Amino acid sequence: MENDTIVAISTPNIGEGGIGIVRLSGKSSLSIADKIFISGKNHAGPSKFGTHTINYGWITDGKSKIDEVLLSVMKAPKTYTREDIVEISGHGGPAVLRKILELCISTGARMAQPGEFTKRAFLNGRIDLAQAEAVSELIRAKTDKSARFAVEQVTGGLSQKIKYLRSQLINLSANLEVELDHSEEEIKFASGEETEKILNSSLEDISSIITASQKNRVYIEGVKIAIAGRPNVGKSSLFNAILEKERAIVTALPGTTRDIVAETFNLKGIPVTIMDTAGIMAEYLQEGKIEIRKVEQQIEKIATQKARDVLGKSDIVLFVTDVSMPLTHYDIKIAELISKSASKVILVLNKIDLVNKIEPKKKEITAKFKPYFKGTDFAECSALKTDGITGLENAIYRKIIEQNVFSTTSDTAEGEFVVNLRQEEALRQASANITKALEAGRNGESGEFIVLSVNSALDNLGEITGETTTEEILDVIFSNFCVGK
Ligand code: GDP
Repeated sequence: MENDTIVAISTPNIGEGGIGIVRLSGKSSLSIADKIFISGKNHAGPSKFGTHTINYGWITDGKSKIDEVLLSVMKAPKTYTREDIVEISGHGGPAVLRKILELCISTGARMAQPGEFTKRAFLNGRIDLAQAEAVSELIRAKTDKSARFAVEQVTGGLSQKIKYLRSQLINLSANLEVELDHSEEEIKFASGEETEKILNSSLEDISSIITASQKNRVYIEGVKIAIAGRPNVGKSSLFNAILEKERAIVTALPGTTRDIVAETFNLKGIPVTIMDTAGIMAEYLQEGKIEIRKVEQQIEKIATQKARDVLGKSDIVLFVTDVSMPLTHYDIKIAELISKSASKVILVLNKIDLVNKIEPKKKEITAKFKPYFKGTDFAECSALKTDGITGLENAIYRKIIEQNVFSTTSDTAEGEFVVNLRQEEALRQASANITKALEAGRNGESGEFIVLSVNSALDNLGEITGETTTEEILDVIFSNFCVGK
């Protein structure tokens, strides 16, 4: 148990809110509160208050009142960190909150590091590492569905599964060790057949966790989509139409949207981040101003790199064309660029409101882009009239499912969870070690080899729940948290 008392502002520190919370955790939480809190009711200090009570009063620096607050007292051990916790809900703005924070520090607390409250909950055994990580995922959850997965994990869904797997392997390892110690006496606790059965079922369990996770990870990590196309085809309009709000600048002059604008929206529970690359595309393809050879040269240089970065980072590219105009060199150039950088493309035929017959146009465009994209999906729309946007969203959704690892057709099954990449890596290593143990057994190698591999697998699994995680890894995990959690 750590000795110092930590403090942080636990509510978001950007902007103003109705209330803000300063949270203290540690041995001196109550004595610090005694020094800075005047009860509105009687003269008793917070250390005399009952546990799990909310108390009205004032924060004071000894000279004057700083803020009117509600002070929650939660005494160890039934608290988030298992230490004494005091939460001060202030009504003042950011400056007042900071003042309360400083008062806590000047009376004995230390500023908490990111995730330190949750780290203490983990170190004090209230939650395991998988649960702690899920807390951070819950904070970041962008859709209801991502939150549901995180909640499942906070409440220990994955941890229980890992604990079960570990207990199986611990038993096996112990029996094998006994067997090794008594090898002359020919005691057979874990027969070869039994060993193989346990190892095989562990392998199956691990593989089903990974498969289920990969299917569901899309709800946590989301999907990145880039909108690409030559200037003026309607990328920014499309971006706005999809997000149903005006964030990107829409203009009739080519190349006025300079930067990549990104927004996240909820597509049937999947957080989809959509990036308007109008800036990049426009900057380097100033139509009419630079002759085509120079454009080509430029594309070869910086532009390609920048655009490729964005395209490469996206899971799906919406390649927008303007059906009211003939295709140009620029369309082809960009198609080339996309085909080199991105794998999943949806060809968007925009401005359908300006043409009478879409079919001949569709044929022409398909033929033109065939060399660049295989099995490309189409969507027709009018970004201006917000026509066909649902169709486009359906095409995006289909594309996500098509990436086969994501199964988004069925609703989340009860008890399913999503492991993050760190946890998946640990599972894969455990799997590799169990396979090694199996092979050692089949090849008639000495029992020691089997035990060694089983123990390594146990360590790998322990990394998920935190039993065998190094200090370094812990630091990395908790440093990704926000301060105050
Ligand atoms: P970007 O340069 O590709 O981002 O294109 P913008 O979104 O800025 O659009 C360029 C021009 O085309 C603007 O005047 C838009 O109003 C217009 N525009 C965009 N989409 C449509 C559409 O579906 N139909 C029509 N008629 N005009 C559109």
